[in-house]
Amino acid sequence: MNYLSTRSPAGSTERKRFCEILLEGLAPDGGLYLPETYPQISAARLEELRQVYKSQGYADLAFEVLSLFIDDIPAEDLRALCRKTYTQAVFGTAEIVPLRPLESGLWLEALSNGPTLAFKDMAMQLLGNLFEYELARRGEELNIFGATSGDTGSAAEYAMRGKKGVRVFMTSPHGRMSPFQQAQMFSLQDANIHNLAVKGVFDDCQDLVKAVSNDLEYKRRYKIGTVNSINWARLLAQVVYYFAGYFQCTSNATERVSFTVPSGNFGNVCAGHVARMMGLPIHKLVVATNENDVLDEFFRTGVYRVRGTADTHETSSPSMDISKASNFERFVFDLLGRDGDQTRALFGDALNKTGHFDLSEHPAFAQAAARYGFESGKSTHSNRLTTIQDTYQRFNEMVDTHTADGIKVAREHLTPGVPMVVLETALPIKFAATIVEALGREPVRPAGFEGIEALPKRVQVIEADVSWVKNYIASHCD
Ligand SMILES: *Cc1c(COP(=O)(O)O)cnc(C)c1O
Repeated sequence: MNYLSTRSPAGSTERKRFCEILLEGLAPDGGLYLPETYPQISAARLEELRQVYKSQGYADLAFEVLSLFIDDIPAEDLRALCRKTYTQAVFGTAEIVPLRPLESGLWLEALSNGPTLAFKDMAMQLLGNLFEYELARRGEELNIFGATSGDTGSAAEYAMRGKKGVRVFMTSPHGRMSPFQQAQMFSLQDANIHNLAVKGVFDDCQDLVKAVSNDLEYKRRYKIGTVNSINWARLLAQVVYYFAGYFQCTSNATERVSFTVPSGNFGNVCAGHVARMMGLPIHKLVVATNENDVLDEFFRTGVYRVRGTADTHETSSPSMDISKASNFERFVFDLLGRDGDQTRALFGDALNKTGHFDLSEHPAFAQAAARYGFESGKSTHSNRLTTIQDTYQRFNEMVDTHTADGIKVAREHLTPGVPMVVLETALPIKFAATIVEALGREPVRPAGFEGIEALPKRVQVIEADVSWVKNYIASHCD
């Protein structure tokens, strides 16, 4: 399998293999990597994969799906990496991503029983093992330098802790993450994990990352990398749980299923798009946003309009607070018939100049729903509270704020006779303040997380000072 950039000019033959893009972010032309073609799964093959999931488990299903996209890791090594990653010990159940029912026709798919209690563990845990494997093979090292407002940073740290050849330097805005999130990250005592709490806001952290990444000489010398959501391996790992969710609520390949996905950077739902393109019988892919409704606006109107800082709201589903959706370019590339020149004109030129583009008159836009199954909806703070209350009262299920956005929007997009699966992207304990506001009681705390706020913390509080950070990384690199 070869990969191309979403901004490849017509006729370009520039292609890469999986392991070449594994440690990379953007393509050199500023685009995102996608496979040259989507492998096709026939109905008969789908039934075989159902049997693999049922009799051998999630790890082997992951191997079968991933091996369609990865041909530069020996099969038995890839299978071993999947089996090392997706264990009951790490993810809590034999199914790894069990479904549980709400009202008739509506299901929750649990993606948040990994080490940091958010769905990002599903991909990041695999990424940690893939990085360690590939770096050892090359005899190289990598220093991951990132910025987080919560879920991404902790998922990255729990995936990379103790891994050979990898160090993590993670900035976060000092005092702004929830006490639970701070406890999760700062209690890690592993020598290869460095927490830097920046006096400032999330944007100050991101500015530090940009400043360091723009210093190409420094970046090369200290082997700086990232693990952000545009990484293809992360997206690929997420494709697997669409298959596992499908198998759990169907009995044969003639049945269709819809998914509703609480969305921010469009990484999670883009994995659903890939699964659908492979032939998984997905009816609708419903994008659920919070008040930061960049994506809902596009799917309703055809206009994609990036928000400024002043228009980006701080909400009670903070992991979806985005000003632009970094993976969205992947879908638009497919929507435009994989025309790299047109994609570059939209995402490079138009967005840079005007901050928006308009596909409302483009014939492709009408196909977003008809041909690709995309629909969308939006949920606000009061919708979130109502949904959390209602779900708790009727089903005795406590859901987190992001998942509540998904449930609210899912109910507006049901099709009779087609099961709707809502992806559960985090557990309520991570966003306790809003749960207390909705239910008047503290969320359930999973076993093993009792008292983590009292554990010793390993964190440095720092100024937003680029040269200080560069020196810090340099002095911790050997
Ligand atoms: C990251 C995250 C999201 C958004 O996922 P995208 O892939 O960015 O669309 C939703 N919910 C939670 C809890 C998250 O951590």
